[in-house]
Amino acid sequence: MQSQSRSTVYDVCIVGSGAGGGMAAYALTKAGARVALLEAGQMWDPLKDGAMLKWPYDSPRRGASTRERPFGEFDGCIGGWQIDGEPYTTAPGTQFNWWRARMLGGRTNHWGRISLRFGPYDFQRKSRDGLGDDWPITYDDVKPWYDEVDKLVGIFGSVEGLPNEPDGIFHEPPVPRCYERLASNAAKKLGLTVIPSRLSIITKPHNGRAPCHYCGQCNRGCMTNSNFSSTGVLIPPAQKTGRLTLMTNAMAREVTLGRDGRANGVSYIDTRTRRDAHVQARIVVLAASACETARILLNSKSSTFPNGLANSSGTVGKYLTDTTGTDVSGFIPKMMDMPPHNEDGVGGMHIYMPWWLDNKKLDFPRGYHIETWGGRGMPSAGFMGGIHRYPKGGGYGASLKDDYRRYYGSTIGFSGRGEMIPNDGSYCEIDPSVVDQYGIPVLRFHWRWADHEYLQVKHMQETFRAMIAEMGGQVFSPMPTREQGYGIANGGAIIHELGGARMGNDPKTSVVNANCQAHDVKNLFVTDGAPFVSQADKNPTWTILALSMRTSDYIAQMRKAGSL
Ligand SMILES: Cc1cc2nc3c(=O)[nH]c(=O)nc-3n(C[C@H](O)[C@H](O)[C@H](O)COP(=O)(O)OP(=O)(O)OC[C@H]3O[C@@H](n4cnc5c(N)ncnc54)[C@H](O)[C@@H]3O)c2cc1C
Ligand code: SF4
Repeated sequence: MQSQSRSTVYDVCIVGSGAGGGMAAYALTKAGARVALLEAGQMWDPLKDGAMLKWPYDSPRRGASTRERPFGEFDGCIGGWQIDGEPYTTAPGTQFNWWRARMLGGRTNHWGRISLRFGPYDFQRKSRDGLGDDWPITYDDVKPWYDEVDKLVGIFGSVEGLPNEPDGIFHEPPVPRCYERLASNAAKKLGLTVIPSRLSIITKPHNGRAPCHYCGQCNRGCMTNSNFSSTGVLIPPAQKTGRLTLMTNAMAREVTLGRDGRANGVSYIDTRTRRDAHVQARIVVLAASACETARILLNSKSSTFPNGLANSSGTVGKYLTDTTGTDVSGFIPKMMDMPPHNEDGVGGMHIYMPWWLDNKKLDFPRGYHIETWGGRGMPSAGFMGGIHRYPKGGGYGASLKDDYRRYYGSTIGFSGRGEMIPNDGSYCEIDPSVVDQYGIPVLRFHWRWADHEYLQVKHMQETFRAMIAEMGGQVFSPMPTREQGYGIANGGAIIHELGGARMGNDPKTSVVNANCQAHDVKNLFVTDGAPFVSQADKNPTWTILALSMRTSDYIAQMRKAGSL
């Protein structure tokens, strides 16, 4: 943590250094603001601290997961489903998982880099099918910012001209691998749309960064800075301006309010000394991730805002959504005994299947996209998910090794990622009786899926099973029943939680306006996923980045005009 004088008043204090906070720090320092960036986690530099070049046998654990690295010990993200000393609770009957990062750059140190623009329909869903709410902005309002993010960060993909899958400014995409070609053929036979994937990985030199060398280890942190992380792409140029004061191990407790009703800074705890401290700032930007931002607002109580800051509408914590998700995997005999072949590529899928059907002809609203996985990843602990699942697989000694060689790369998997509609039963609030190790009240989650989501996930299961059958394969598990929720993942489990401080034109039903500025507190902004009005069937981070850049530009304009 850098030291700062008690009397320093920053132009802006940003809370959180992930996608939303990193982008705000980049754009605001570039625009001339002196910024204090509070980050609860530790310092991290993917170029030095990443494990991209490690072999599983470099560790006696062979890459197995740990509590703070649930996706494997070499993973680039410190955090997880549970963080020691920082609990959250769930209401009776609720199943909700909350994945939190605790490091500079947040979850962008691991994320899948699937970088999709929301389409024109996604901002105006209520007008199309009557469910949920429209955003107060349209695709055309965000398009210039998506373009700027594409140019700054770099993304590969292909120009397709599909109606609700807007094209971007793309680098050349990598070609599909063997198993992706087979999946693509099967999908096309069943009438699905298959296009090259869109990932924020650069395939040619870009803004001083080297192109991807196809080592396939993106989740470990890229040591050549060829994929997007806030830590690799946004924080360093912000630091170069000389206007960024980075404060790590700084856990924000609440936004403080001046007598004039304006935010005047953020109080936080130094997690190493456990001392309370305060940063003074003229403008506060919250980007601690959607639910954590709702928590900070709800914990920022005052006589003006007894129910939490900027919460005169009572909607802070409400309209929470996550992506719907389910997976199906299977064994494809024709991929068995495959001669060695080149499967080099990025650490993510090379093909993408966007939503392809008309909901008017279906028994559920809104769509989903399909992610494909398989192939010959680097063997490590948990390799192939259990040889006993394959016909005649198992045993010991030479025949076991032989089975592993024969079956290596013959698995295919499909994951559906769909749009949930916000409902009254899915929200977070402050638990009245539990605090974390710093004495800060924690969140309690309530979650409910509706038939909309269950029936959508049933459709995913049926589609994926049909694709594996089309490939001549055998699915590993039986079709989940209605009682099993058709295999729907728990709320939060897909790690796309959004909402909690949604945007809108009406201060009675929303927390922030179309510029992500709090209706109740003019100098308070939110630049993570909390202002999202709806999910879309796309992963959210490209939209978080675009909106954060757009809000930062608005702040810069207002500062110039002297109106903040
Ligand atoms: C395994 C995985 C795969 C994913 N894949 C994709 C994908 O392919 N595409 C996609 O679009 N999205 C993906 N995501 C989601 C993506 O990572 C998030 O949407 C994105 O990182 C959200 O950005 P954010 O700034 O809101 O939050 P984060 O990136 O989580 O950053 C929040 C930061 O705030 C800090 N913080 C929290 N509380 C406080 C506090 N009180 N005080 C100070 N600091 C605080 C945290 O430590 C963290 O560093 C994935 C996520 C995971 C974990
Ligand atoms: S696959 Fe490319 S972007 Fe990913 S870690 Fe390797 S070099 Fe970096």
